[in-house]
Amino acid sequence: MAYSYEAPVSQSLFDRASVVTPGGVNSPVRAFRAVGGTPRFMVSGTGPYLTDADGREYVDLVCSWGPMILGHSHPEVIAAVQEAVSRGTSFGTPGEGEVALAEEIVARIEPVEQVRLVSSGTEATMSAIRLARGFTGRAKVVKFAGCYHGHVDALLAAAGSGLATFGLPDTPGVTGATAGDTVVLSYNDLDAVRAAFAAHPGEIACVITEASPGNMGVVPPAEGFNAGLKELCAADGALFISDEVMTGFRTSKAGWYGIDGVRPDLMTFGKVMGGGFPAAAFGGRADVMAHLAPAGPVYQAGTLSGNPVATAAGLAQLRLLDDAAYAKIDAVSAELRSLVGDAFTKEGVAHTVSSASNMFSVFFTDRPVRNYDDAKKQEAFRFTAFFHSMLEQGVYLPPSAFESWFVSTAHDERAVERIAAALPAAARAASEATA
Ligand code: PLP
Repeated sequence: MAYSYEAPVSQSLFDRASVVTPGGVNSPVRAFRAVGGTPRFMVSGTGPYLTDADGREYVDLVCSWGPMILGHSHPEVIAAVQEAVSRGTSFGTPGEGEVALAEEIVARIEPVEQVRLVSSGTEATMSAIRLARGFTGRAKVVKFAGCYHGHVDALLAAAGSGLATFGLPDTPGVTGATAGDTVVLSYNDLDAVRAAFAAHPGEIACVITEASPGNMGVVPPAEGFNAGLKELCAADGALFISDEVMTGFRTSKAGWYGIDGVRPDLMTFGKVMGGGFPAAAFGGRADVMAHLAPAGPVYQAGTLSGNPVATAAGLAQLRLLDDAAYAKIDAVSAELRSLVGDAFTKEGVAHTVSSASNMFSVFFTDRPVRNYDDAKKQEAFRFTAFFHSMLEQGVYLPPSAFESWFVSTAHDERAVERIAAALPAAARAASEATA
């Protein structure tokens, strides 16, 4: 596909980066491989806008993959960071900021009685699984195809959905031994989970699921799915782990738990709670968390865990996220979903705007999408044309058809108008695209 616009400074930075960094990026999806073209190197962000190295401004619908829920450079978050930095950047000792952040999380999310801070969502899920295995004395982990829990070896197995299928390593470097205890099932299929428990009674340490998946596009849990998982886990003595790294503090004040009320044994968080810094957490039942070192025998640690600058940013952000903030985000999301849907309908493009609270994405199919197999059946080539048209018109979407779009409290009328103005041509480009 040829692109009618150029980004010479980004291109030259990407060329330099490609010499010293594999693929030119520090996280694969940033490389634009799914859509082609030059990844934009961003130099600044204000409110709902990003500015790239070529001086072009974009309305940002990625929000750093979720964390920037108040928009970029929110003055109160920046002030909290500056105040924290002025006192030093890392002490390697306990500090009050981490206590305050843990208290805020515990206060918001009722099933979380205790919480441990870490530096990334990957660390959070990896640690939660180790804890579940240590607590239950069992080895097997059930996960769902299309759910992403970071690059934890045992959780990268996503192949072979179906009845009690053993996970196969999906990437070189993950050994069969590591992935062999992972059972990968099709999302939204409670019968498959029932069958897995029947096939491995007393062997499953935990079921881990995205509270509401956003990593195969947005595919919400069917009515009763999370409750069913919880029930099946409880009946067998396994732990139910809800991964709220993406949904936590975004889909509501208490994340997805605040919406479906299903009480997990353990939960994981990241993104929004770090205010744009590397901070994440896992937490849950106090009797399970008590197994964690130094209180208990399951080891887990981190040099920068509870970093004072990251906790200050996270805390400042969370304290600003009141009911009015969520109402605003929900309203902007609803408005954009309707504008996007109308644009595709007008151009006769088969589509589904799929949403879970204020998270949403577009599937280029009009058939229902309930799991990863359904998601993969969409006409993803249409997304490529749509994406580049939006980018050219100054709207920055996630560079993949399988990612959630994110909005913030800073997405005001002007930002929405700019998106609305870009949609007709982009929808036309999608309708004219060929595989
Ligand atoms: N869990 C979920 C649901 C995620 O969406 C992600 C990242 O996108 C992770 C875990 C991993 O988080 P991190 O990228 O901070 O390691």
